Amino acid sequence: MTHNLAEKTPVTMLGLGAMGTALTRSWLAAGHPLTVWNRTPARAAALAPEGAQIADTAAEAVAANRLIVLCLMDDTSVGEVLDDTDLADRDLVNLTTSTPAEARARAEWARARGARYLDGGIMAVPPMIGVPESGGYVLYSGSRDLFERYQETLSIPAGTTYVGEDAGFASLHDVALLSAMYGMFAGAAHAFALIRREDIDPAALAPMLADWLVAMAPAVHRTAEQLRSGDYTKDVVSNLAMQVAGTRTFLSTAEQQGVSPELLSPYFELMRRRLAEGSGEEDLTGVIELLVN
Ligand code: NDP
Repeated sequence: MTHNLAEKTPVTMLGLGAMGTALTRSWLAAGHPLTVWNRTPARAAALAPEGAQIADTAAEAVAANRLIVLCLMDDTSVGEVLDDTDLADRDLVNLTTSTPAEARARAEWARARGARYLDGGIMAVPPMIGVPESGGYVLYSGSRDLFERYQETLSIPAGTTYVGEDAGFASLHDVALLSAMYGMFAGAAHAFALIRREDIDPAALAPMLADWLVAMAPAVHRTAEQLRSGDYTKDVVSNLAMQVAGTRTFLSTAEQQGVSPELLSPYFELMRRRLAEGSGEEDLTGVIELLVN
């Protein structure tokens, strides 16, 4: 009986907000010994009936186990929480959202204190944690050894995707994916605005919109191939000249519907600039060149 428990990696969890609590519960449910600490003690106390050991201080929690998982508000709070702790020979897995530069600096900071460091970017919301079929996962970067050593434990709350030794890569991938998501939301907002004053049920447009976005999404593979080859005219379906000519319809329709073009205009402006450089036979891929300083 004790044999089974001994096989489960003990975890120290620092930060029991919505996400930290969800992560903790998934490990507790899987039988991992958990030591938890939270700035506001009540959130930690709530997990005691589920089997969590409550530490009075962050230092005590860090001393309890080798594997330390952090899920705090931001990088500043990570610094504050770990300030008075002894990190020698600890394995830090930091799931706190940060910028790539913050993650790289935090990896160096950890190394200087004798700890190993793995950074994570969570591609899930709390209800998706511990629910494998939800598709939620965490991007990891930094120490490959740490990732491999703890992959089984880390795969309890969500899927795991390792994106490289550079500690900043998890947050860079995280932000890249979320940035694309905001572009999609912006496009959907414009689409709903166009029908807002018409006798069209938004719930009737929604499935068409969702299907259309899914149908268009694979275009990113062509973009990636063009970026790799450097040939932006390769396998072009609708060239830039044609698409720029088409922007008139989008802008006139917005005007006719009394909708501000402010979400679409910046992208159209980039398309026009690229066309003006003589790139009419290209795909939209050339726009990326205009964004990179
Ligand atoms: P919450 O606001 O629910 O919790 C924030 C946590 O950080 C709490 O435990 C809070 O402690 C702690 N905290 C904040 N400031 C400090 C500080 N100065 N010192 C010590 N502790 C501090 O946030 P979430 O749990 O939702 O998010 C945690 C991390 O997970 C964030 O980096 C977030 O970006 C990331 N994330 C969250 C997602 C989500 O959908 N919720 C999705 C993907 C990533 P206290 O209880 O005392 O306030």
